[in-house]
Amino acid sequence: MTTQAAPAPHRAPDLPARPRAFSGIQPSGVMHLGNDLGAVRNYVALQDRGAVEGFETIYCIVDYHALTSTHDPAVLRSRTLEMAASLIALGLDPDKCTLFVQSDRPEVTELCWLFNTVTPVGWLQRTPTYKEKRLTQPEDVNHGLLTYPVLQAADIVLYKASLVPVGRDQAAHLELSREIVRAFNARYGETFPEPKAVYTEAPVVLGTDGVKKMSKSIGNTIDILAEPEVIRKQVTSMVTDTRRILRSDPGHPEVCNVCRLHRFFGDDYEAIWEGERTARTGCVDTKKLLAERITARYAGARETYRELMADQTKLRRILDAGAEKARPIAEATMAEVRERMGLR
Ligand code: ATP
Ligand code: MG
Repeated sequence: MTTQAAPAPHRAPDLPARPRAFSGIQPSGVMHLGNDLGAVRNYVALQDRGAVEGFETIYCIVDYHALTSTHDPAVLRSRTLEMAASLIALGLDPDKCTLFVQSDRPEVTELCWLFNTVTPVGWLQRTPTYKEKRLTQPEDVNHGLLTYPVLQAADIVLYKASLVPVGRDQAAHLELSREIVRAFNARYGETFPEPKAVYTEAPVVLGTDGVKKMSKSIGNTIDILAEPEVIRKQVTSMVTDTRRILRSDPGHPEVCNVCRLHRFFGDDYEAIWEGERTARTGCVDTKKLLAERITARYAGARETYRELMADQTKLRRILDAGAEKARPIAEATMAEVRERMGLR
């Protein structure tokens, strides 16, 4: 009697076996504390996890996005390189992740156009950042501002990424990305995964004004890779507990931005809060300590940043290689999308 060979096991259809992470940062200014605590720390954590677990992490310096507010070519060019150096200094490793400049992979502009045709204008007009930008740059309400979230959706899903490490200010954009993906998939068939935001434990870092989100474009930032003197000045300018008038008044650390930030710079924040509550310490002391700790935390990164900026040819080579590494995924996605949409 011959034994029959067991039938070949059923093979699941080809799906991305592992999650892929993507995120972008604008070269609209220099790297600040909110960027790192709210997003970049997670870029690095996901990159390191991805290297062990075998999933890809893709990070992009989104210069097309920055063009909606930055119009000086020389400034944009130098900020793009500075942002690349900053990301590497903070822990991105081009051997573990894909790091590139958005405009070096222009497939994304085609996908953005195609997504424009499935995106109702009303969705874009309702976006909080668009409404805000209309107020902050009323002389320059360019079409790029309106279509910004469509380009963002294209950025993410060009690489079929499903994990997006961002700050909470991006929640509305991410929701819109999901809606655009749903609209596309409904019209042309299941093509893209729905992207999901991944937050850190500091999803919104307030600026030195203590009111608005820390933002490059507002200028209420603490520039973590700047010289210690700059950091000291920025921290000294921070608005603290506005109810505390006199040095002898008890403080309210839970509403003080400086005190809240201490949570991320040492395990003794409760003692610092207690000092404020009992007026044993004043706001000036607490700020001085915070400035010292921020300076110390980023000392190594500051050094690496300086070294990277001193060899811009090497930096450009890293970015060129990143764009090449991203090419096959971008081209494969575009071939699939063109086919699905009926383009030649
Ligand atoms: P711009 O003012 O030009 O929009 P930005 O400071 O908001 O600049 P982005 O490049 O827009 O920085 O954002 C890069 C990443 O950093 C995004 O994931 C964003 O959500 C995150 N991020 C920016 N600011 C903060 C903040 N204050 N707290 C937490 N996350 C932040
Ligand atoms: Mg922003």
